[in-house]
Amino acid sequence: MAAPLFSRAHHQQALHHTKGRNLIPDPGADTPAPESTVRFSTSKKGKRSFTATGDDSFIAALEYALRRNLDPGRPAGPQMYEALTDILRGEGGVADAVPRPLVVVLLEEHTKILRGEGNDTILGLSDGTTMTGAEYLARFHGEDLEVAIFHPQAGAVNLYDTKRFANTKQRDLARATLTTCPVPGCRHAADNCEVHHVTAWSRGGQTNMNNLAVVCRYHNRTNDDDPTRHHRGRIEIRAGTPVWVSPRGRPAANTTHQYGAMHLLFGKQRE
Ligand SMILES: [Zn+2]
Repeated sequence: MAAPLFSRAHHQQALHHTKGRNLIPDPGADTPAPESTVRFSTSKKGKRSFTATGDDSFIAALEYALRRNLDPGRPAGPQMYEALTDILRGEGGVADAVPRPLVVVLLEEHTKILRGEGNDTILGLSDGTTMTGAEYLARFHGEDLEVAIFHPQAGAVNLYDTKRFANTKQRDLARATLTTCPVPGCRHAADNCEVHHVTAWSRGGQTNMNNLAVVCRYHNRTNDDDPTRHHRGRIEIRAGTPVWVSPRGRPAANTTHQYGAMHLLFGKQRE
């Protein structure tokens, strides 16, 4: 008589696991959900394997992170392995998983919009889109938008020198500073970028705002991390803004979606 009870208990576990989604008859309903676990194999020809079992949503987020920006010209497996090792080692930081877009608003613009005079103002979002002042006003109190009111002194640097990973505030400020990858012509929005150490962590670079930039996965890979190497160009900080500098040492701006805070604040003086 123990068997049916056993089965029901596990069926309840399966119900709980689906968290309110429509239940589709599951042929495996009588088998218990596997325990969350990690397993490591023995070494074979200098390689080892591991498998991890965990909650659906977490593994989905991991898969999303590993599959982002795959080069279709190369097999996916090795690229996902690279992405996984990057996450585990913290090289170049970890991208946000499906972040809320951040809208960059100057303080004076913000007050103008709140006065109802900013309907023609175009604001840039970190997902590569724009919105009008009127749309901003309508969504200002919404839960689907993160608002960063940017003031030249408000980007006060939080010091987390000893930590390799950028914290949430640093990532937010990095994607508010530039709303796209800094490499000219690159259309990758900040939300789909990684947080890059301008001076690599391995070379003593610190996790401070003056050393962080959002850079897309591809350009993070091709960046000349070694400043003496002049191959594909590298990201440097010029006048408080991450800028791509060509192998010949010429800085060039990405003119795609110029809504980053530093461009809005200081762009006119530079041009
Ligand atoms: Zn890029």
